[in-house]
Amino acid sequence: MKTAPHCPLSDHRHRVISYLRVSVTDRCNLRCRYCMTSHTRWLPKGHILTLEEIHRMVRIAVGLGITKVRLTGGEPLYRKGIVGLVQKLAAEPGIEDLSMTTNGTLLAEKASALKAAGLKRINISLDTTDPQGFAELTGRDLFSAVWQGIMTAREVGFTPIKINAVVLRGCNDDQIEALADLSRRYPFHVRFIEYMPIATDPHEAEHFFFPITEIAQRLEKMGRLLPVAHERLDGPAQRYRFADAPGEIGLIGSMSSHFCDTCNRMRLTADGHLRPCLLSDEEVNVIDALRQGAGDEEIAAIYARAVAMKKGHHRLSFTGDCSLRTKMASIGG
Ligand code: SAM
Ligand code: SF4
Repeated sequence: MKTAPHCPLSDHRHRVISYLRVSVTDRCNLRCRYCMTSHTRWLPKGHILTLEEIHRMVRIAVGLGITKVRLTGGEPLYRKGIVGLVQKLAAEPGIEDLSMTTNGTLLAEKASALKAAGLKRINISLDTTDPQGFAELTGRDLFSAVWQGIMTAREVGFTPIKINAVVLRGCNDDQIEALADLSRRYPFHVRFIEYMPIATDPHEAEHFFFPITEIAQRLEKMGRLLPVAHERLDGPAQRYRFADAPGEIGLIGSMSSHFCDTCNRMRLTADGHLRPCLLSDEEVNVIDALRQGAGDEEIAAIYARAVAMKKGHHRLSFTGDCSLRTKMASIGG
């Protein structure tokens, strides 16, 4: 079989796309209120990319200059065979950085195997330090499983461990200090992420919005925040550290401070679509081509087409008419 030629993916604004986020499943064992509802329905199994199709898509992307790959979902650890997929991707020579975003509930049992399979870094979502608040926010009483997962990930040597927290006004904003304090007690990077109105009415969602500027004001009352220099593989987080803290704080303002100008990402959705921008519903179908026997060069051309569609700036807002139809779990947050 012919392999795709190495030619970097870049868009009309000369942004080079080097980072692919892959949603390996739309399924999840939690029901975070900002992401899923009890009415959420899974995609039929046959509509989800197989692990072999995901591997092939990543291999072709690496041939096009992708060097950074993150596995996400849905809940990636809920997908059977995920450790085997990690092992195969870790063996791809062009991938400099292979990481995963997980809700942590299944991490205690899988962290060691993931590390051995070659996963480099892990982000764990945790929006509260309070077990009861966790159950209310996620619909499942699994706080201790997540905490155990975080501790096991640390024991097996994942470093740094990043904790992702989405802050919702009136829901978990009372947890900002307790979450930030984790960066003083452990070498964790605690990253606060602005809530985005995805698959919901943005006007109704607006009262949950808690901007990073307000989060920063709260954190400054806890102690002086020192800026941390940006590194090459860093994403859009503004990085800080409390004096003498082993860990860090990150602020990610997807809604209030666009980082579109420097965006180097694209996404492969669980149902086999390339999505050039998280916050726009424009996608290119690739699953049909994969299943109709397209060669690597044809798939590479579909990647290039998707990158060419990348928007200059996203238009998602709480006040405009723009919302997203697709739920986060199938896109891969
Ligand atoms: N299940 C895994 C997890 O929760 O980490 C991976 C998938 S989840 C969709 C990826 C990230 O998206 C999580 O950190 C989650 O908090 C974030 N997320 C989901 N819905 C969001 C929303 N509406 N606004 C901001 N972040 C969101
Ligand atoms: Fe599941 Fe992650 Fe969505 Fe929560 S944010 S419901 S853990 S996919």
